[in-house]
Amino acid sequence: MTPDLHARHRAVLPEWLALYYDRPIEITHGEGRQVWDADGKQYLDFFGGILTTMTAHALPEVTKAVSEQASRIVHSSTLYLNRPMVELAERVAKLSGIPDARVFFTTSGTEANDTALLLATAYRRSNQILAMRNSYHGRSFSAVGITGNRGWSPTSLSPLQTLYVHGGVRTRGPYAHLSDAEFTEACVADLRDMLGQTRGNVAALIAEPIQGVGGFTSPPDGLYARFRQILAEHGILWISDEVQTGWGRTGEHFWGWQAHAASGPPDLLTFAKGIGNGMSIGGVVARAEVMNCLDANSISTFGGSPVTMAAGLANLSYLLEHDLQGNARRVGGLLIERLRAIGASTPCVREVRGRGLMIGIELVRPGTDEAHPDAATAVLEECREHGLLIGKGGGHSTSVLRIAPPLTLTVAEAEQGAAILERALRNAS
Ligand code: PMP
Repeated sequence: MTPDLHARHRAVLPEWLALYYDRPIEITHGEGRQVWDADGKQYLDFFGGILTTMTAHALPEVTKAVSEQASRIVHSSTLYLNRPMVELAERVAKLSGIPDARVFFTTSGTEANDTALLLATAYRRSNQILAMRNSYHGRSFSAVGITGNRGWSPTSLSPLQTLYVHGGVRTRGPYAHLSDAEFTEACVADLRDMLGQTRGNVAALIAEPIQGVGGFTSPPDGLYARFRQILAEHGILWISDEVQTGWGRTGEHFWGWQAHAASGPPDLLTFAKGIGNGMSIGGVVARAEVMNCLDANSISTFGGSPVTMAAGLANLSYLLEHDLQGNARRVGGLLIERLRAIGASTPCVREVRGRGLMIGIELVRPGTDEAHPDAATAVLEECREHGLLIGKGGGHSTSVLRIAPPLTLTVAEAEQGAAILERALRNAS
């Protein structure tokens, strides 16, 4: 069954549509943090939380809301009043921390970032954008143009003029051995240099508070607050891409920008992924004067669909009522601690990093500082054999294991997954 589907996939879908594993898995159903493949094999899902299923697979509250709304009406998202869209917008606006916030719903993170770029460039009347090295912001023509991770940026013919600044990652390269304070000063100097080159006529800087696809790397504390201060002097907007870091995943905070809180809320915030717990919701939040700067109509047929909005409302209620941010902090904290203990005695582990339930394990060739993508692939395969799904990422060499389970993960499940990872990491060392 699966080999045949794999062959059919390859025959009809693009080569660049990535699939994990030598023998890719066909997932047929799920419940909670567990999924099953077409052969009936069960897996603990340590990655679905970042992909789609932020809360839990087949969460009854969400599936009920979706099926009730789908059996009532799925009509245009705009042109007529849409109660679930207004209600979700009210809640997201309030949660965003942005004063006088307006919300526009899209169907993906890519489209959310595209819209943020449309707004920022129109508002500032400039198509110059600052983005971070090693970043990922989506797959549209303009989103790949601001994606610093070259492995995910298949064309350089961008409609935007983008300059990439240092700060999101420093694992390797000229800044690798600097202290946090030295790295911060070097990045600030780099930013000032970029601004000098553009004569300050930049629309916005876009940044992920923690780089997701880039391998779950964070800037040093205080760096983005410094950046914000400098950009504000020029009226340059700050776009926080919260597609991976939003909704409490990082445990300590509801949004990733709050880890850099000295700089206050961003001018624009983009979100997507799991807020619909699998239904396709993305969106942009911006203060009214930025959101309303467009002087022509711009609607989305499916962005804000009553069905996805119903899913978003049910999911948001669930995660707030069950304090899943607190769960991410507690269970994620224990998992990070456990993985650090494993990493300390496992030669291929360079670093275990992360916040809450967003955890990266960076792998190197034992005894060196050299990235070890083969080990990452081997660990992924072995975990799969023992019933655990994880992800991978990182810059040009994919050598970081990524762990982002649904936010309802229990301590027992964290322990179960850590035990499988421990064996696979030791075998890869
Ligand atoms: N921004 C970030 C930070 C992401 O991680 C992603 C998806 N990996 C996107 C944007 C694009 O989202 P989507 O795949 O929904 O278009």
